[in-house]
Amino acid sequence: MDNLTINDLLAKVAEYNNEEIEIIRKAYSYAFELHKGQKRQSGEDYITHPLHVSYILANMHADRDTLCAGLLHDTLEDTKMTKEDIALIFNDDVANLVDGVTKISKMNFSSKQDQNLANTRKIITGITEDVRIIIIKLADRLHNMRTLGFKSEFKQKENAMETMDIFVPLAYYIGAYRIKSELEDLSLQYLYPDKYKKIEDIKLRIEDNSKHCLEEMLQTINRILTDKNIPHEIKVRTKNIYGIYKRMEQGYKLSDIHDLLALKVMVDTIANCYQTLGLVHSKYHPINEKFKDYIYNPKTNMYRSLHTTVFGEDDRLVQTQIRTFDMDKIASFGLTAYFDINKGNARSLMQKDLKDKYQFFKSLVEINSVFSDNKGFVNQVKRELFADKIYVYTPKGEILELPKGSTPIDFAYKIHSNIGDTMVSAAVNDKIVDVDYHLHNKDRVRIITDILSYGPREEWLDKVKTTKAKRKIKEFRKKCN
Ligand code: MN
Repeated sequence: MDNLTINDLLAKVAEYNNEEIEIIRKAYSYAFELHKGQKRQSGEDYITHPLHVSYILANMHADRDTLCAGLLHDTLEDTKMTKEDIALIFNDDVANLVDGVTKISKMNFSSKQDQNLANTRKIITGITEDVRIIIIKLADRLHNMRTLGFKSEFKQKENAMETMDIFVPLAYYIGAYRIKSELEDLSLQYLYPDKYKKIEDIKLRIEDNSKHCLEEMLQTINRILTDKNIPHEIKVRTKNIYGIYKRMEQGYKLSDIHDLLALKVMVDTIANCYQTLGLVHSKYHPINEKFKDYIYNPKTNMYRSLHTTVFGEDDRLVQTQIRTFDMDKIASFGLTAYFDINKGNARSLMQKDLKDKYQFFKSLVEINSVFSDNKGFVNQVKRELFADKIYVYTPKGEILELPKGSTPIDFAYKIHSNIGDTMVSAAVNDKIVDVDYHLHNKDRVRIITDILSYGPREEWLDKVKTTKAKRKIKEFRKKCN
């Protein structure tokens, strides 16, 4: 939004939180005074930047302290304001958030300098203290990417690459899909302008061609659900430009991308999700292999929804995503949705769920505890968390997230160290494989253990990717020697 004002922000906040407008107005006036006279490269007053950052956060229904910190996020770095000032004028939480965002703002992943590596470590471990730091940082990055046009071409490409390497995975890990897909599209636009333009045209054409078909389906499903008295809302979405780009790079034809077009159906309860699924299938034939139940089998970033691809009007393939209203908030904003869904106790629930349910978090804590030197830490995070990942099934059907190149040994230790320590072989999709077999997406993995086993071998250290497996094997070998 151009010419955004504080009133726009306050109006947005009032949509979901009417009581705390004054403190946000106060944060704005401080930021406004402190940044007075400073300009962005675009020539605009600097204040437009923190204002937009906070507006992005308000669109995600972030809480009061996050919004204040969004407005103040550049004041420690660029003005005479101190952390103690912020604590005094606002509160400790706002001060810690601004301080956290400031510490991580100078990070440089590709640098070899120790100072930069230390900063990089701070951004990463910042999540473990307060995940809101990362949420503010993502909003900051999003606005900087939106206004990247004023930077040199070199800077544009550098920022776009860094965004793809670090911020897109982070957004995915906390489930913030809206931010993720916008960051992807903006990055692609600067990295490969020609390809971006070409796919943008394709996307517009598809949307134009299928408008009629989607609208008709939407109306039909709308009628059916209204007849059954199921409270609902339906939206249309097209895959983002980067998503289409990636599929085409993988060799897919446009007509074979089954989730190019999607209808999102939101209903009130889980029971009604399944009823809606039945109703949709009775009207439109599903493709059996494309059905996914992420409600009882959530993605590792807690995304929950039913996905079914059906033959829609004019025999077009249309993915239908069915979920509850709350699940939809999580699917759009990830952890930030907690503010909205859990009101009062959002903060504690958020950090608790982060620890218990988000698999990347455990890996992060593990890497942080094992690597004392910053360089080792940063390299391992790159290898383990920011590299390509695979998703495999346990015998019970749970999904485990592992770095690409992982072996059944990594899998065994990820489940439990006892399983790794007593493992003798592994079966993948019911076939016995070598312990150093490279796992693939969707493999079903079963570890065969024997309490009389010799335990992990020294040479397994070269066959594992994950920090936990390496640490546990070393611990076991130490006991043997
Ligand atoms: Mn900033």
